[in-house]
Order: sequence, then structure tokens, then C-alpha cells
Amino acid sequence: MRLELSAEDQAFRKEMREFFTTQVPEEIRTAVLDGRELSKEQVVESQRALNAGGLAVPGWPVEWGGRDWSQLQRHLWHEEMQAAGVPLPLPFNTSMIGPVIAHFGSQEVKERFLPPTANLDIWWSQGFSEPDAGSDLAGLRTTAVRDGDDWVVNGQKTWTTLGQHGDWIFTLVRTDPEAKKQLGISMLLIDMTSPGVEVRPIQLIDGGHEVNEVWFTDVRVPGENLVGEVNQGWTMAKFLLGNERVGVAPVGSVKRMLVRAKQVGGDRLADPLLRARIADLENELLALELTTLRVVAHSAGGAPHPASSVLKLRGTELQQAASELLLDLAGPQSLASGADPDAGGTDAPGWARRAAPTYLNLRKASIYGGSNEIQRQIIARTILGL
Ligand SMILES: Cc1cc2nc3c(=O)[nH]c(=O)nc-3n(C[C@H](O)[C@H](O)[C@H](O)COP(=O)(O)OP(=O)(O)OC[C@H]3O[C@@H](n4cnc5c(N)ncnc54)[C@H](O)[C@@H]3O)c2cc1C
Repeated sequence: MRLELSAEDQAFRKEMREFFTTQVPEEIRTAVLDGRELSKEQVVESQRALNAGGLAVPGWPVEWGGRDWSQLQRHLWHEEMQAAGVPLPLPFNTSMIGPVIAHFGSQEVKERFLPPTANLDIWWSQGFSEPDAGSDLAGLRTTAVRDGDDWVVNGQKTWTTLGQHGDWIFTLVRTDPEAKKQLGISMLLIDMTSPGVEVRPIQLIDGGHEVNEVWFTDVRVPGENLVGEVNQGWTMAKFLLGNERVGVAPVGSVKRMLVRAKQVGGDRLADPLLRARIADLENELLALELTTLRVVAHSAGGAPHPASSVLKLRGTELQQAASELLLDLAGPQSLASGADPDAGGTDAPGWARRAAPTYLNLRKASIYGGSNEIQRQIIARTILGL
């Protein structure tokens, strides 16, 4: 395997860096680099800037804004975006429902939804998980019953990320309760302003409001909002979940955390134990980066490589370990997360005040997108053949 970039790929990297550092507002990028939360408007503004430059949905079919890049180019695009502090395009839109609609939707559904999905004119939410259907997703119970031209939906979804901003939600619903569980599921697109849709916040341990429950009570959904055929939802769910694990290794953001650790370490960097801990993480990260490049080099035809489970597993473990390192470096100052520096409440620097909420928030990374235990099973079965 050749690890050095060709002159062409180096030029491509430069082009990406140039775009990201000049076309996406600096205020937004600084907020990302500082680990601050973005407003909905900032996320939308950033994605629209990317879309205007043809860089929001490079993985889509060309006729809908895709770029027909090599896997390596897509990887470089992703890396440079993270390095520059550009918020990644909203995954619900760009790597989840967009590719599903482009692959399975009717021409009418494609024309109606793909352009506003790329430009973030529609903010999508993912309505898959239910209280008893997470890892065992096929056990979902939300029902959709045909009534004339409409579907009538009843049930509850949970862990709906950023559902408070959602305009539309793509859902898996049970349309045939008699069939084997995987065979009775369909995919419906639901306007979240429809009567009977209720979004309820879930409070998290970092103090933030990132996830929600979404309840459906007799929600009427027009028949044409079905994606693909009735009872074909499981096929689309597998396609979508496979895409969800591509580009999952947060190499760029872990690198940023390690750079931060070295910047704030000060005199403590003389401690051989701390130095060893940082060096160990850097080595692991380098190994992950090389594995990412190997996976990228062997992905063909848009199908996710089974090794993407390794990237999810190691990526989230390293992300959590780096956040723990910053928490340890912040020490007691990390407990000042609630203090208001403008009110003279603390002189602890921003990174230290954010260390505890970030550490707590990143506990989620080993659960969502398929828990790490499930990834281990995929690795055991499909890679190791156990
Ligand atoms: C922050 C966050 C955001 C999320 N956002 C969304 C979203 O926007 N939309 C959405 O639809 N879903 C979302 N999810 C849901 C997520 O996909 C599920 O939480 C995940 O699939 C795990 O399901 P579960 O929580 O029901 O846990 P369970 O499936 O109940 O698992 C509980 C524990 O048992 C383990 N386990 C389960 N089955 C097995 C097995 N067969 N072998 C070994 N171990 C097993 C799991 O790994 C886990 O540790 C989000 C979750 C989180 C935490």
C-alpha cells in the first residue's frame, strides 16, 4: 500500500483546505475548534456554504450534486473539514436519508426532497430507535395503517438527535404486524409539523439537550411519502446503517484534542507518565488513520467495507480516551463548567470548563450508530470468521 499522496491528491487536499478556511465563516469554525455548541442557524449557514461550492454531498449520485470522487478524495475532504473546524454536513441529511432517497425513491420523491436536503432547507431527524428496539431494531412497534390514500401512524421513537430542530423525520414503521419482523417494516417520511407529532426533550448528563422522544398519535401521512415499496423498509434501513458507519472514525477531531492537550499541558509535560500517555494515544491514532486509509483504498462501488466497524470501535474509544486526558489535565477546574466567566464567576479557561461536559457527552459515542458490542460481533463474524 502506498501511503504518500500523489501530486494530484496533494493538490486536491490543498484545494479543500483553501475552500474550508476561506468560504466557511471563521466565527463558526472557531466555535467548533473551541468545542462550543453551534446554533441551528450556524449549522445551516455552514452547510449552505459547502453546498454552494459543491462540497456538501460529494458521495451522492452526480445528477443530485455528487462529485464522483475517489474514496481517497472523499477521505481527504472529510479530514480537511475536521482540521479546519468546519461542522460536518448534517449526517441525517447527507449520509443517511439523502442516499436512501437517491437509491430507492421515485423520481418525484427525488425531485421533491434531494435539493432541499443537500442545502439543509429541510432539517431531517432519524426516527428509527424505540424504547425496546435499539440494537434489536427490527423489534420496532410504531404502526402505520392504511386509511384511504393516507397512512395513520401511532407509536413512539426515542433518542432522536436534534429532533427539536427537525422539519421532517424519516421513520421505520410496522406496516404488516403478521409478517416475520424484518419483513413487515416500511419507511415513511413525516412532516414534523403534522398534527399528532410531539417532540419531548431528554435531559442529558452534560446538561445539554441533544436528544428527544418523538410521539405519534393518529398522525396522517400522505401515501406518496412512502419511500420505495411497502414492507421494503428493512432493506433501506440496512443500506442506511451501512452508510452511517462510513466516515465514522473521528481522526481529525481526536488529533485536535491531542494538540490541545500538549498546548495546555505546560510544565506537566515533563512528567514521563503523562508523556507516555500522550505518545500512546498518538500512536493509536496513527494506527487508526492508516487503517482508515486502508479501508478507504479497499472500498468499492459505494458498499461499506466491513472494516468500517473497526473504525467505529477504535475511533470512539480513542475519542473517549482523549476527552479523559483533557479532563485529567483540567483537574478541579473542570468542575467549573457551570460558572459564568462574564459574571466574574471563574478564571478557569474555556477548554477546562468544557472538559467535564465534553467527557460526559462523549460517553454516547460507543452507543449510537450501533453500539460497540454490536460492532465487535460484526468484526467477529464478517472479518474474523468466528
Ligand atoms: C446520543 C445518542 C443519539 C442517538 N440518536 C439517534 C437518532 O437520532 N435516531 C435514532 O433512531 N436512534 C438514535 N440513537 C439510538 C441508538 O442507535 C441506540 O441507542 C443504539 O442502537 C443502542 O440501542 P439501545 O439504546 O436500545 O440499547 P440496547 O439495544 O438495549 O443495548 C443495551 C446494551 O446491551 C448491549 N447489547 C444489545 N444486544 C446485544 C447483543 N446481541 N450482543 C451483545 N451486546 C448486546 C448493547 O451493546 C448495549 O451495551 C441514539 C443514541 C444515543 C446514545
